[in-house]
Order: sequence, then structure tokens, then C-alpha cells
Amino acid sequence: MEIDMVGFGSSNSPQRPVGHSPDPCASSDERRATSDRILRLAGLVKESVVDGPGLRAVVFVQGCPHRCPGCHNPKTWDPAGGFLMTVEELWDEIKGLRLLRGITYSGGEPFAQAAPLALLAERIKGKGWDLFVYTGYTWEELQRRRTHDPGSDRLLRLADVLVDGPFILAARDPRLPFRGSRNQRLIDLRASEGAGRSVIWEVPAWTD
Ligand code: SF4
Repeated sequence: MEIDMVGFGSSNSPQRPVGHSPDPCASSDERRATSDRILRLAGLVKESVVDGPGLRAVVFVQGCPHRCPGCHNPKTWDPAGGFLMTVEELWDEIKGLRLLRGITYSGGEPFAQAAPLALLAERIKGKGWDLFVYTGYTWEELQRRRTHDPGSDRLLRLADVLVDGPFILAARDPRLPFRGSRNQRLIDLRASEGAGRSVIWEVPAWTD
């Protein structure tokens, strides 16, 4: 999905300014704790029906190392772009939304900010919503990443469906539900955790 970079609220809302920066005087532990609660975002779409099943809110994170040719959202690549927001501020924007089936993390690369997104995921799951996560990494790459990145491990334990792998222009297929190219998979993370291998998520018939 190509995002409206204005993002927050309605499409008429002004661009939200960068509001937070880590305190340069803080200790390394304090900086780590702070950075784990701050997200760099490209935008938020409060109602979408194309980024997962049902009515969803979509959090677009800022910063992507994959740089796929043909990417729809190249404005999200710059890791210094977008704007900053705490997990609590973003949750305040989301928690009152009605009739949502779930939340989608898109990008940008969500696993580049896995720790604060896992914190947000705890709130999302506590509300009974499901969680879709798009990533340019494959599921197999994330299994290695989680061994040294607790945030990625936590996010993999909380999310329900992973849309994995980079967008490959030569494999583009606009008929595919919820993904852009044939290499990308919809992975049932809960079933995969139990099986110890990637298990494909079956798209519900009611989304056709
Ligand atoms: S992973 Fe997604 S956001 Fe990143 S470059 Fe590829 S298509 Fe674009």
C-alpha cells in the first residue's frame, strides 16, 4: 500500500513534527530504555482493508535497509526521516478506534524497530486485536535475528501473521492477496512457533 505521508488522523491533518530526541546526558541504560519506547514513523492509516484481513489500522514505520527496486514507499527508506513518537502516544491514537479487526505494521522495516513495536504489540494483543507484520526479511532470517535481538524475538512471539521477504519487481503479481510479489509468503507465526518451521497462513475465504 502506498501511504499518504501526512498519515496521522485524516488526510487533511498536518505533518506531525519530530517531537522527541533521546537525552544526550542520560546513561546508556537510560538511553536504551528510552529508545525502546520511541518509534520513528512514516505515518498511520486508521482505516485500511488492503493490508490484512478486515478493517485495520496500519502503522508505517520509517527506515528500511532493503531498498527493493520498485518499492511503493521509498520515502520510508531514510532511517533519519519521518517523525518520532513514543509507544504510549501512538497507543493513545489507536486504542479508541472502533470496529477494527486488527493492526498491521508496515514500512519501512518493522524489525529495525522491533523493541518498541513489541511493546505496542502487547497492548494490541491485550485488546484482542490481531497483528499482521510486513517485513523485508525472510522468516528464516528472522529466526537467526531473534537469537541476538530480544525485541525481534518478542515481536515474533506476539504477532499473528508475517508477510515476509523483499518485494521483487520481476515476481510482482497484483492478484496476490496482501502481498506484492510471488516470493513473499503469508506465514502463520503461532503455528510456526509450535511446528519449528514456517507454516503458511491460509487467507480466509471471506476476504475474497
Ligand atoms: S522491504 Fe518493503 S518498504 Fe523496504 S524497500 Fe522493500 S518493499 Fe520497500
